[in-house]
Amino acid sequence: MTVPQPKPWIMGIAPYIPGRSTTDDGRHVAKLSSNENPLGTSPAARAAFAAAATTLERYPDASGTALREALAAKHGLDPARIIYGNGSDEVLHLAAGAFAGEGDEVIHVRFGFSVYEIATRRVGAVPVVAPDRDHATDVDAILACVTQRTRIVYLANPNNPTGTYSSAAEIARLHAGLRPDILLVLDHAYAEYIEGDADDGGMALAAAASNVMVTRTFSKMYGLAAERVGWGYASPAIIDALHRIRLPFSVTAAGTAAALGALGDDGFVAHTRAHNARWRRWFSDEIAQLGNAGLRAIPSQANFVLVVFEGPLTAEAAYQGLMDAGFLVRWLPGQQLPHGLRITIGTQDECEGVIAALRAMTR
Ligand SMILES: *Cc1c(COP(=O)(O)O)cnc(C)c1O
Repeated sequence: MTVPQPKPWIMGIAPYIPGRSTTDDGRHVAKLSSNENPLGTSPAARAAFAAAATTLERYPDASGTALREALAAKHGLDPARIIYGNGSDEVLHLAAGAFAGEGDEVIHVRFGFSVYEIATRRVGAVPVVAPDRDHATDVDAILACVTQRTRIVYLANPNNPTGTYSSAAEIARLHAGLRPDILLVLDHAYAEYIEGDADDGGMALAAAASNVMVTRTFSKMYGLAAERVGWGYASPAIIDALHRIRLPFSVTAAGTAAALGALGDDGFVAHTRAHNARWRRWFSDEIAQLGNAGLRAIPSQANFVLVVFEGPLTAEAAYQGLMDAGFLVRWLPGQQLPHGLRITIGTQDECEGVIAALRAMTR
């Protein structure tokens, strides 16, 4: 061999495809493809971010003490059991890095977040895909995938890209069915969007059980996707293992400052939550009215809705039509969803515009 060879499992990774922000012909249009906050960012977060510009020569606090303590105070947690990272993506990768390796198996659901498969393959482990129940998580199907080689189960709740939600009873049943040496990673990237503040019990499990980690992010509800701040909560032994492999300065000082500012602005969060709940309901009701054209909204508890196309209008044609009308949404044929579009709940104008364009295409 004449050139360096990547590990064989690395070449099995299909690179992550981010949501697009321009059309095929380069126009700037409404970006409803990455589940970002359509209301922007808290002014308090912006101010804290700007203030951080005065100390750019300093390394950030590698232990993230201020942010861990603020998170602990807000959620009633032990700050020593919080790990934070460059987006929750980093924390998800740390879990695979510390707890899985060549030949091990890692389970995720069929319509799961694509980072799980990448994190799994990166360490030489084998992704095992649990079938869905009409796009939703099927706990029995996950449990049926468990073998002696299983090391991790990754599950987003609410799930992305489906928006579906598993109740606390379902999550408890999943956890009860897993051997204690299998790490259950519950990804709560959209937990703040659940109707009526419902709770899947994941954080309580992470506090009580030695094999559960919950991850959360500042990228969605807090409107800080640009700054890459996420965190995880788990037993001291799990957190200790993750710390050994994390990059010491993966979260920037400005990102940390912005996150602290955002955490102090409950008003912005309440406003975002109310906006999302209102327009998610409206949007889903409008899609239901297009049911005779074969459109169906999968019930969502997140800040997006997966619309499936089961009539003459295909998801691909709708994707192009929405782009022509000025709206970029997410079409995911590579994730076994050629029949669906994941559409972020945007501003009122954006929601109304998407529905008007879909209505026109189904006439
Ligand atoms: C957006 C998202 C994340 C968050 O990623 P960050 O790295 O924190 O920006 C994590 N999990 C899921 C399922 C997501 O959709």
